[in-house]
Amino acid sequence: MSKAIFIDQHGSSDILTFRDHDLPPPGANQIRVKNAAIGVNFIDIYQRRGLYPIDLPAILGSECAGLIAAVGDGVTGFSVGDRVACLTGTSAYAEYSNVAASSAAKIPDGIDYDIAAAVFLKGLTTEMLLRQVYQLKAEDTCLVHAAAGGVGTILCQWARNIGARIIGVVGSDDKAAIAKANGASDIIVRDATTDIAAAVRRLTNDAGVQVAYDSVGAATFDASLDSLAPLGHMVTFGNASGPPPAIEPLALARRGSLTLTRPTLFHYATPDHLPAMATTLFAMVSQGAVIPKISHRIPLADAAKAHSLLESGKTNGSIILTT
Ligand code: NDP
Repeated sequence: MSKAIFIDQHGSSDILTFRDHDLPPPGANQIRVKNAAIGVNFIDIYQRRGLYPIDLPAILGSECAGLIAAVGDGVTGFSVGDRVACLTGTSAYAEYSNVAASSAAKIPDGIDYDIAAAVFLKGLTTEMLLRQVYQLKAEDTCLVHAAAGGVGTILCQWARNIGARIIGVVGSDDKAAIAKANGASDIIVRDATTDIAAAVRRLTNDAGVQVAYDSVGAATFDASLDSLAPLGHMVTFGNASGPPPAIEPLALARRGSLTLTRPTLFHYATPDHLPAMATTLFAMVSQGAVIPKISHRIPLADAAKAHSLLESGKTNGSIILTT
């Protein structure tokens, strides 16, 4: 019997329950993973709240890292005993998960489970944002919101490796120091009254930035648009403060023929593309260009605590659950 964190309805973090789960054998093309570390992501909170639809009851959890305990029919390229990191969609908050083999990647030697769980989904998201959605260049200036958070930490480190100038936006002075250490050369500390776009204009001699990576959503969307240079790229990829507002195409034209995109990792990390994305990500970790920061290690049974911490907006780096 495997234990897992279930939700039976949508709601606040206290609806998470830790209970027995009668996991069937892995199906065709699935692997069974004995989870060692499980990355906690804001996506899990959107699913718990009901912003991102999932069927209920559900086991939460979008990614896991662990050892393959069994393989289903038709699995090739993976064996019992392999160390893997996996995108799961849901079902990762568990001692054991059955996962599509096409959503897994082997973890290279030298990267432990905790690091793999801290970096896999967030680092693949970063690879998507910096190399696929918009190819960030050394001569670009980019705006990164939540620059000390889970994705933000990796995004800043990777953008620094590319050589781009990074303007980081954070919610506190403590996070400002972390974002600077991650590679942001300029920091905007945001509160309810901060005029982010005006600060960006000051920092860029009125030029604006080539790309804005905005995961905060409702509270920052307009400021991000107003921070862009002509022909700039608005990348809205999250809703930490709530979903961004609707926008008319003409508003993009008026601001300088901007582009607007709303990428989702699961459309990029398809079975065809995941292996190369994972190889690139793990190489960045092995080289020391990306150094995931783990702010909290929390037992799986206490996943509710991890959710409360993450949605408080006060954490930095990655939170992982341990089994
Ligand atoms: P983070 O560790 O970045 O935590 C969220 C951060 O958002 C907070 O620390 C806080 O940073 C900021 N924030 C601003 N307003 C709020 C608010 N009202 N409530 C809570 N936090 C707030 O989380 P993750 O690294 O897990 O995820 C970062 C973002 O990336 C999320 O929005 C997530 O949805 C998105 N994402 C999108 C993916 C995609 O495929 N599109 C894939 C993976 C993640 P500060 O105080 O510094 O502003």
